[in-house]
Amino acid sequence: MAATVERPKPVLVPDSCKGCGRCIDACEHHCIEPGSDIDPVTGLVPVRIHLEHCTACGLCFDACPEPYALRPEFADAARASRPAPRATAIPAAEPIPDAIVELPPAEPLVIKGMYASAIGAILAGCRHFFGYPITPSTEGAELMARLLPRLDGQFVQAVSEVAAINMLYGAGSAGVRATTFTSSPGFSLMLEGLSYMMGARVPGVVVNVMRGGPGLGNIAPSQSDIKLACRGLGHGDSHAIVLAPATPQEMLELTMLAFDLAFKYRNPVIVLADAYLAQMTGRVTLPRTMVQPGVPSWAVAGDEAHRRNLITSIYLSETELEGENLRLLAKYARMVDEEPRADLFECGDAEILIVACNTPSRMAKGAVRTLRARGVKAGLFRPLTLWPFPIRALAPVLGRAREVVVVEASAAQLEDEMRLAISHANLATPPITRVNRLGGILPSHDEIVSCVVSGARAPALEATA
Ligand code: SF4
Ligand code: SF4
Repeated sequence: MAATVERPKPVLVPDSCKGCGRCIDACEHHCIEPGSDIDPVTGLVPVRIHLEHCTACGLCFDACPEPYALRPEFADAARASRPAPRATAIPAAEPIPDAIVELPPAEPLVIKGMYASAIGAILAGCRHFFGYPITPSTEGAELMARLLPRLDGQFVQAVSEVAAINMLYGAGSAGVRATTFTSSPGFSLMLEGLSYMMGARVPGVVVNVMRGGPGLGNIAPSQSDIKLACRGLGHGDSHAIVLAPATPQEMLELTMLAFDLAFKYRNPVIVLADAYLAQMTGRVTLPRTMVQPGVPSWAVAGDEAHRRNLITSIYLSETELEGENLRLLAKYARMVDEEPRADLFECGDAEILIVACNTPSRMAKGAVRTLRARGVKAGLFRPLTLWPFPIRALAPVLGRAREVVVVEASAAQLEDEMRLAISHANLATPPITRVNRLGGILPSHDEIVSCVVSGARAPALEATA
């Protein structure tokens, strides 16, 4: 007579169950049903099991993707499996710190802004790229596609920007340095995912190359996403640091900085470039060090030590969600306090203060030189962080100026950020004039000089004044 083999019935380990429901579908005897109680360890809702009709067929074991969620229980106590460890019994993960690796000296490169951003990401330890091609950011993705496979990295061309940002969400949750490059219409599609990342405190870097809008607009340079990046990154009370490079060198440096800030604050960081800058070729000096990334203790890294970690933006209890919002607000306040950055040119005695960022700041710098040559005490204030706006650096030069001229390729979006910062700081505002162009046209050197010298206004100004 053949020996019978005892088959185990399942026992649920609640804090290892993600509530995915695959076991519910697998069980033909309806032994498993959706749960209703939130597990205090994971914040998730595990299933419930009733074994009255269980035949020990084992299909639920096969269906469950979690290694410890269902453990086998034998009737024979001597053969009973050892209890699966509860997540709380496993020591918490120790962080693996980043390492700084020396680089050999190298000649400066002459490369496009997007290439500089891609190289900056790699030097910052980024080995994961998820993106959907969109002009004028695509060259950066192309370079990542060539380089990352050689560096044991992953390049994924997603089916859409929505997919790309959610891949970034997943990679950031695993504690790895990841990025995506996009342009204005694609950036719009990423806002929901960015909101989830901010809500779940997940780092990631998004390089958005602004082009003319709204809608599909065109592929010419613009600054029309300043409002979106500084004030509209998804629903809820959320913020991300917004960096504004003006040269290919800064595309590299600010992309590297973006990764540091993203992991410092566990928050996405936006590098806001423009189409001209992305396509512009310039001299780029490489740093002497690069980052070899570690693994933060909070990551969901797929091993026992990290399995207690939970990355979520769902807080069903109102008081819990309010508490989480307050913690996020405290983090944003720390960013406002510690991260504003600005570049000042000839501002020491400036009576005419020009405010500009990205490529228009290059025209503005030339205009300052021209105006100085004509005896006009002009200076350029260039915010490197658009959010948080560097109001502490602006305040002293604002106090000396008799007029502020905001130069931008949008309908006063930079100006509004500046006005808001001035208002919150309770500063007196001198008269503010605008030189702004729209539709993919950048303000020119001559328009800025004419505005300062004779009050001549750029065409777009009349419609937006
Ligand atoms: S062992 Fe089979 S019958 Fe028992 S709960 Fe799992 S799927 Fe259902
Ligand atoms: S399949 Fe596993 S993780 Fe999913 S609900 Fe069932 S027990 Fe939980």
